[in-house]
Amino acid sequence: MSKLCVLRGRSKFKDQKLVIEFLKCGPKEANKWGHCCKHSDDSVCVDPIECELFTYYNPRFTWRTVIIGHAYIEPVKGGKRKTVGTLLADIIDRETIRDVWYDHMCAVSPIHLLIAGTLFDRQGYMDPELYDDEIKKGSGVFGKEIGEGRLLHLESIVVDKDYRRQGIGAKLMSGLHKVAKKEQVSFIFAFPDTETQDFVACARSVGYRHVARTRVIAYAVDQQHPSRKLDKSLDPEPFAYYHQAHLFDYSTPVCLVISRYIPKFAVQILQKFPLDTDWTERDDGGMTPLHLAAKGISPELLMFLLSKETTYACIHQRTTFGDTPLTALKSSARRVRDMPMGIPAPNLDNWRGYAEDYVECYKLLISAMNEPWDEELEKRVRFGCSCGHCLEGVMSPRVKFYILAYIYESARIIKTRWGAETNENIAKVVSGIFAHLPPTLSDVSSEEPFQRGFATLLEYIGICLEENEIPTADKVGKKLDWYRDMGEGEDTQRYLNLGGTINDALSYLFAGCCYKTWSAVFKELDEAKEIPHCDNDDLITPVRLFACGTMETERPKSTLESIPLDAVLGQMVDMLTGYHF
Ligand SMILES: [Zn+2]
Ligand SMILES: [Zn+2]
Ligand SMILES: [Zn+2]
Repeated sequence: MSKLCVLRGRSKFKDQKLVIEFLKCGPKEANKWGHCCKHSDDSVCVDPIECELFTYYNPRFTWRTVIIGHAYIEPVKGGKRKTVGTLLADIIDRETIRDVWYDHMCAVSPIHLLIAGTLFDRQGYMDPELYDDEIKKGSGVFGKEIGEGRLLHLESIVVDKDYRRQGIGAKLMSGLHKVAKKEQVSFIFAFPDTETQDFVACARSVGYRHVARTRVIAYAVDQQHPSRKLDKSLDPEPFAYYHQAHLFDYSTPVCLVISRYIPKFAVQILQKFPLDTDWTERDDGGMTPLHLAAKGISPELLMFLLSKETTYACIHQRTTFGDTPLTALKSSARRVRDMPMGIPAPNLDNWRGYAEDYVECYKLLISAMNEPWDEELEKRVRFGCSCGHCLEGVMSPRVKFYILAYIYESARIIKTRWGAETNENIAKVVSGIFAHLPPTLSDVSSEEPFQRGFATLLEYIGICLEENEIPTADKVGKKLDWYRDMGEGEDTQRYLNLGGTINDALSYLFAGCCYKTWSAVFKELDEAKEIPHCDNDDLITPVRLFACGTMETERPKSTLESIPLDAVLGQMVDMLTGYHF
């Protein structure tokens, strides 16, 4: 444990002083001997295992540091101190766990996952909807910057009943802000539950503001941050809290049918509805039938509803949670792709893009909004590209950058291996590269002509990428033909004659294990840091499938993604209650 800061002051209690003390326990402290935190009853800390910090510290999470703040009342003349307030928080070193961000947050606590799922995408970057969407972004004082660096999560702050309303809570919080500064954290986050409005008021008065219109409040350590300059009266209220009960609560006839039957049956029932049915009626949450059909990812229902002219009025309407039909559709899909809890998320390694139903729904809504739909957009929608620049919708600028860096580094090192500067280390690295090729090639793959040809082939693949095309065996083959006509690429021809294939080289480049290793190597380059983030930054298997030619033929239609949650729940209710509409 190390002591972070101690504030002393005179309390309003006669002859007593208030002491605020912060302790931390992270991977460094936990492994250090001579641990000596100060306990509230002044007892000596003998056994770290018995120590309260250890109850919160988990040695499995080496990227997490536990922070505890205590407020004590202590007689001025010395004597027993009494704990009157406690603050619990932790610092998360996000950069080291981006690949497994949701899973790790889920492992720490449900509230960690809640914050992670509310503000951040699968890799811990800010959800673009929260700064792009005119309505959802709220005051807009928080932007992409909250997705960078270490973050501090304020879990709880409790002040003894008899000592409230004396500023002890505020003192604990200002202590925490000092800790944040010292620990080089830029933002503190908290997710107050609905019962702690007192806390929200107190937090607002010391500079916390809502992030977009979520219930998460955040504090920027930097006084120059826009959130610190926003008057607290301008801090918008969060959207009403969404709770699961709503799934069973649809109060309008059309929504009730949509929520309780699978789309095929719902359409059959709705077709029998009277001619003067109101297809735009909103329920308590502002949900219209169109929102619900979009949320359930159901093209049948959307098509049926959009065949009624009046429903077009709902296309831009917002629910009380701020959703339009399109954002409701997107967030349903996102849940399928992202969350480690709730709906079983398909393993991202096997992910082949969203199911046809999702793309179809997206297209229907975009057309209903009179916005253009083209092949490019379709590709981006299918793979959930959030940056707008992914090649074929699936290969993000970052993946492209890493693969290119990987290509040139591999080619360079192979050529060095056969040059004058070669040494044992280089030979070892190079044989590691060729260990990735099929074992049938092991006879030839250690020889110079084979390796040189392979290196040149990698460079041709790099040229394809530079020209903004995902290299497929076909495209690279054409490139080779072109260079051969120019009288170049002899060594690659030799590689092919020796039994190597273009696909071997592509599989080597797009192997997930290599990508992860190399992305860690190139991550720190200034150039890499300037690349805008895309949701697809960790999609490597689909890119490999695309490049190696199995993407189109093997893409299964996912049943998981096309079953609307509401319909399933609706049927369960039917079975449990025997209720029929
Ligand atoms: Zn202790
Ligand atoms: Zn993208
Ligand atoms: Zn590898």
